[in-house]
Amino acid sequence: MFGIASRRGTGSIFRAIKCYSTAAENTPLKVAVIGSGPAGFYTAYRLLEKLPGTQVDMYESLPVPYGLARFGVAPDHPEVKNCQDKFNEVAQYPGFQFFGNVAIGKDEETLVALKENYNSVVFAYGSSEDRQLGIPGEDLPGVFSAREFVGWYNGLPEHSGLNPPLEDAEDVVIIGNGNVALDVARMLLCNLDKIKSTDITEESFEVLKKSKVKRVRIVARRGLLQSAFTTKEIRELVKEPGSAMEPLEDEYIESYKPFIPLLGRATKRLTQVLEKAPKENEAKTGPITKSWRLDYLQSPVQFFPHPANPKLLSGTKFGKNTLIQDNITSPATVLSTGEEIIHKSELAFRSIGYKALPLKGMDKLEISFDERRGMIPNDLGRVVGKSDRGYGEPLYGLYVAGWVKNGPTGVIATTMRESFEVAETLIEDYYKNRLDTSHKPGFEGVKPVLKTPPVTWDDWLKIEKIENERGASLGKPRSKFTDTAEMLKIVE
Ligand code: FAD
Ligand code: NAP
Repeated sequence: MFGIASRRGTGSIFRAIKCYSTAAENTPLKVAVIGSGPAGFYTAYRLLEKLPGTQVDMYESLPVPYGLARFGVAPDHPEVKNCQDKFNEVAQYPGFQFFGNVAIGKDEETLVALKENYNSVVFAYGSSEDRQLGIPGEDLPGVFSAREFVGWYNGLPEHSGLNPPLEDAEDVVIIGNGNVALDVARMLLCNLDKIKSTDITEESFEVLKKSKVKRVRIVARRGLLQSAFTTKEIRELVKEPGSAMEPLEDEYIESYKPFIPLLGRATKRLTQVLEKAPKENEAKTGPITKSWRLDYLQSPVQFFPHPANPKLLSGTKFGKNTLIQDNITSPATVLSTGEEIIHKSELAFRSIGYKALPLKGMDKLEISFDERRGMIPNDLGRVVGKSDRGYGEPLYGLYVAGWVKNGPTGVIATTMRESFEVAETLIEDYYKNRLDTSHKPGFEGVKPVLKTPPVTWDDWLKIEKIENERGASLGKPRSKFTDTAEMLKIVE
């Protein structure tokens, strides 16, 4: 019934709903939010602000909150992490409760219990897996996903033991050229003095200190105009002291020249930043010991093991592509030329996007899930049911926000805007009497199915206090715990 898997909002819903006044108005809602990243917090904030009296219970699989704002955003972007101050404010609302260390949908009972014990459930659990290439050699120890590397330097417990063998590698390839790929490149290339006083984990900092990585190659399957990174982020890499961008191959520049008069301002600026990179190199004053380059029109084909060191690769084979594009507004099609090239690379990082998985219990609740795109199909944030003809009708009372709504793209600002719209969709359904507004037990009804006692917001503040104290003694904003058991010990 819905032609598109995810319809985005118009922003005008809230103005419309103010006119409704129904019997539902006096019944306080109990809402469960799954996930404490930006989507969870911004949805909660809007609900608490616009529907006074609402109880929002946030369930988080980790003992600590904030999702990718804590475990994704790079340590040298502390200003981006300031959104955590806003989230902490949200947690002060009397109607807010946090239940950490509770993975909803690890077993069927937890999700079903949320549905039964709340008037409404918001899925905001992000995308905690990564996409695979499906090519030979992908499981070799020298191939890392950007997601695990990022989690490692940011202290995500799941990846705390990753320790990539950077001390043995000089050449690295990164597959994909989104902003995550640039974060990975920057961490491999950056001046360590710059990140020493950030919240990077001490363990990963020590490994980066021993790194021998000298050359980083960022490889995209399409052309320069299709680059997934943004201008601000590529400029930051171009300006990185201590490393130089190799000049772009003429063929990449030639391929977009015919389109220059047609380019929008943002894309024009991006091409200018890249073309001026050699000048930036000349302006750098300190020693330049590392280099990086952008390659285009190459698709990964195979990873080869290193003959002597099982932890490393010897190289990565790519197939060359050509781009068929009639004009700037038509989509570019990639065609293989049949040529292949092997880039020397002791390590490879796959940075081709994150992916959400369905939760156990979704089938029982007849919730659709798009496995290919890794997202919950929805209509303006309303979860839709299953149907023989594709997606079914909206399941009023179930909503989805953030990366698990749209797929793994978007920055915190876009996640915020869209989460507000999802909250307003929920509020609209409330005023239109589409929700079951009968009394629900909320957390008290869910408690019996939980396997471990949850971590409360006050518990998290205890963990945070110790992280901040440890950080202060090291001249850092915080020194993160990277082990769940250690965090739980503090709480106990
Ligand atoms: P998430 O932030 O992933 O939050 C989901 C939460 O749900 C997590 O806390 C997770 O632990 C929890 N969860 C998962 N499964 C369950 C479960 N079963 N039960 C309970 N809880 C669960 N944006 C910017 O604006 N600036 C940046 O510099 C920036 N850097 C980024 C760097 C990286 C490496 C990445 C990957 C993204 C970056 N982004 C940045 C984008 C930004 O992080 C996302 O837009 C945003 O975090 C998406 O929010 P979310 O709440 O949908 O998902
Ligand atoms: P992304 O921007 O979607 O980039 C994914 C990259 O992987 C693209 O280059 C894509 O190429 C490539 N790719 C996908 N499948 C591939 C395959 N099978 N083979 C080869 N290449 C493949 O994703 P991301 O880098 O993970 O970033 C996710 C979101 O987080 C983005 O919105 C990003 O802006 C945001 N983010 C922001 C910041 C920041 O603001 N500083 C930092 C990090 C992340 P195609 O384009 O050809 O598909």
